[in-house]
Amino acid sequence: VALRFWWDGLVELIWPPVQRCELCDAPGAAVFCPVCLSDLRRTDGVGAALQCAGQPFERLVCIGLHQGGLRKAVHRLKYCGRRRVAGALASMLAPRLAAAEGDLIVPVPLHAARLRERGYNQAELLADRLGELLGLPVVTGWVERTRPTEAQARLGRQERLVNVRDAFCLRRPGPVPWEGRCVWVVDDVLTTGATAGALTSLLLSAGAVSVGVAVAAVSASSPDA
Ligand SMILES: [Zn+2]
Repeated sequence: VALRFWWDGLVELIWPPVQRCELCDAPGAAVFCPVCLSDLRRTDGVGAALQCAGQPFERLVCIGLHQGGLRKAVHRLKYCGRRRVAGALASMLAPRLAAAEGDLIVPVPLHAARLRERGYNQAELLADRLGELLGLPVVTGWVERTRPTEAQARLGRQERLVNVRDAFCLRRPGPVPWEGRCVWVVDDVLTTGATAGALTSLLLSAGAVSVGVAVAAVSASSPDA
């Protein structure tokens, strides 16, 4: 066994593990290879304006629809522990936030049970990188998710809306950092908008002037499907 470890160590020293594109496995140090990156850049914020109708948030920005390479990238970030994908997605998203008003960023919190299970909040990873790129403060720890609503992918639209009602609450009383400010709510995917809408309502009722939502991807299916 010792020899085996020694041998593996020697092999890694001579041939370091090859880094690969997160989408197509092509060798290379970048998160996405040039081909996949240009594919991702070709998608755009189609449908974003429609998703704002009837929502409490005023703006919605995204890289593109939750399909193809973008869907796979989000999946890698969310379910495969590939945290470095957050930085690459944030770089694509940042110019779209920079074009609109926003003073600070609030990532959609995960429920504590879900956070323990996953070990990280993918929305917070995205928010942290966006904050760095845009020079905006990232506010965490003020809002708590009261129910693990993320498991709602299997629910229909009406069930989802009921499921997220009162899904968030303030963790502490007192003056909030977003009082009188314009907030960006950041999440990985927007499906019906119910989750982002519920958090937006809470932020607005607690002093935010306006809320925009920034997500990597917007669900490709119609919200009424
Ligand atoms: Zn690739």
